[in-house]
Amino acid sequence: MQDVPEKKSVEGNMVIGKKVLSINTKGRYENQKRRDWNTFGQYLRNHRPPLSLSRCSGAHVLEFLRYLDQFGKTKVHTQLCPFFGHPNPPAPCPCPLRQAWGSLDALIGRLRAAFEEHGGKPENNPFGARAVRLYLREVRDSQSKARGISYEKKKRKRPPQQQNPASLMPPQAPPESTTSASENYQ
Ligand SMILES: [Zn+2]
Repeated sequence: MQDVPEKKSVEGNMVIGKKVLSINTKGRYENQKRRDWNTFGQYLRNHRPPLSLSRCSGAHVLEFLRYLDQFGKTKVHTQLCPFFGHPNPPAPCPCPLRQAWGSLDALIGRLRAAFEEHGGKPENNPFGARAVRLYLREVRDSQSKARGISYEKKKRKRPPQQQNPASLMPPQAPPESTTSASENYQ
């Protein structure tokens, strides 16, 4: 007797969950942007020599991005690695883990917006600096070569990729899984 209503309620929850997920996308972006902004503020406070936001340049943003690489989870093969250019290597290798280009690109977009929301002038925005744009392009090109991934804007049909960086699409996770707030930079 109790089985039927239980089943129904489970299905109902799944549908509601999907709806909540799409409505929350905007809120998730805003939350992520706030967390990124706080992380950058913390980076500035810990900077030696001390660095204020008003004196922050594109070079400092690059420093920040390189600092984040130590928390990266994306394997980027060196040219000497036999798996250089292989999207799905068959075995482990000692190549370094880095921040995926897509994560950095999205991060810079959020920080660039946050800077102006906090009263910064667009012409002084260090996240929009030419050096940052060039760096991101360089990272994209080198990672696409090292990992054998094409980052063309036009999305083509790709074979299913199991080992792909989850970091590019974090909002896929269910709403409950917000416990890993400290692991923003996957
Ligand atoms: Zn490798």
